Amino acid sequence: MKIKVHSYGAAQTVTGSCHLLEVDGLRILIDCGMFQGLDEDKNYEPFPFDPRTIDYLIVTHGHIDHIGRIPLLVKEGFGGKIISTKPTYHIARIMLLDAANVMKEEYRVEYRKALRRGKPWEARPPLYDEDDVYEAIEHFRIFLGYHQPYRLSDSITLTFKDAGHILGSSYVEFKIKHGENYRTVVFSGDLGMTKRLIIKPLEFSKDGNYVFMESTYGNRNHRSLEESIEEFKGAILDSLKRGGNIVIPTFALERAQEILYLLRQMYDNHLLPECKIFLDSPLAIAATKIFLRFPEYFNDETKKLIKEGKNPFIFPYVHFSQTPEESKMINSVSSGAIILAGSGMCTGGRIKHHLKHNLWREESSVIFVGYQAKGTLGRAIVDGAKTVKIYGEEIAVKAKIYTINGFSAHADRDTLLKWLGSFENIYGTFLIHGEPEVQKIFKQSVKDKLDIDPHIVEFGESIVLV
Ligand SMILES: [Zn+2]
Ligand SMILES: [Zn+2]
Repeated sequence: MKIKVHSYGAAQTVTGSCHLLEVDGLRILIDCGMFQGLDEDKNYEPFPFDPRTIDYLIVTHGHIDHIGRIPLLVKEGFGGKIISTKPTYHIARIMLLDAANVMKEEYRVEYRKALRRGKPWEARPPLYDEDDVYEAIEHFRIFLGYHQPYRLSDSITLTFKDAGHILGSSYVEFKIKHGENYRTVVFSGDLGMTKRLIIKPLEFSKDGNYVFMESTYGNRNHRSLEESIEEFKGAILDSLKRGGNIVIPTFALERAQEILYLLRQMYDNHLLPECKIFLDSPLAIAATKIFLRFPEYFNDETKKLIKEGKNPFIFPYVHFSQTPEESKMINSVSSGAIILAGSGMCTGGRIKHHLKHNLWREESSVIFVGYQAKGTLGRAIVDGAKTVKIYGEEIAVKAKIYTINGFSAHADRDTLLKWLGSFENIYGTFLIHGEPEVQKIFKQSVKDKLDIDPHIVEFGESIVLV
């Protein structure tokens, strides 16, 4: 029996994850993510395969670069079943609805601009709308926990294992009958670190003959989590003393909950002076509620909190700002507010308003706790811009800027090597989900440390495993 893998995304890039496994007459898609940044135009190209021929879609986790094209897949005729963990389904639902809304808003702005140029046709309509999302999520039909095998056919079984990346994230193991024996094909999705604040860490596995693995941070190691926690707590205390507000640009999923969790820890240890913490993001509020539904996915420390009757994210200083009016009310607070809002790189969303109100104030602070891509407002501030433009207005950067780097949800080089090194019988290693320069460096590290020569997968490449 032939086992074939086709790569239709996240090949020599970190977005658009989409791989097709063909075996025993079944066509199984692993992730169907959106292309972002420079590759964005690819979302508008037709799928390089016929979505009607796909039997199953396996979703590793709820990040948009792994799920963002699911509504398109369904629009183009996918009639199969989607398999994921339960949290992944709930996360996918809110993330896709949010994506549809963001695209609608962007289109509105683009259309007005195009109209003023006299070329309304130049505005590109959204890829899909909310109705398409509702239709698409109907296809999530099979929900599996970790280590709960599921038979796709007489000869193929799949099992999710804990990727430790975000709530419900998994890597997927296909056990495929091959003559008298079995072959195991593994797709990593995105891998996390071995220490996480809320969820369980990345798990290691022995079974894997062919491993398709992400290589996002294959060229470097992260700062330790402990150091970053200390740095973060120090930044909060110093900032509160200076008498202004603290603005924290946060991704709605995982990072927002982690920050609330750390603030809760400070509160419990009587380290946090009285302050007002605003979670100013409907998406982050929705994500926090999903976390609270799945305490079984938490690590022991967080489970212990819950056993003690404590909510890991909500305590007396925390306020949820759901509506735009509630968000605007925060502007009237000039001191002692800790404001968590998105987007994480300050490219849109409510964070821009808070930056506008606080960046120019010497007594305020901005604490960056996530990656800031080149070309974003967040990156400009981190890089030390003296002024920035927000909504057409020039704003001086006088607030104290902190950059804390060790909270990454992605495995670093040593963790990736350790994960790959745990498999006992590898016949083939395939690098996906990484930038080409990083992948080259990681390929060399794998060769040096594990004596394995991994293949860097190209976009559109078809690989016959056996
Ligand atoms: Zn991810
Ligand atoms: Zn990813």
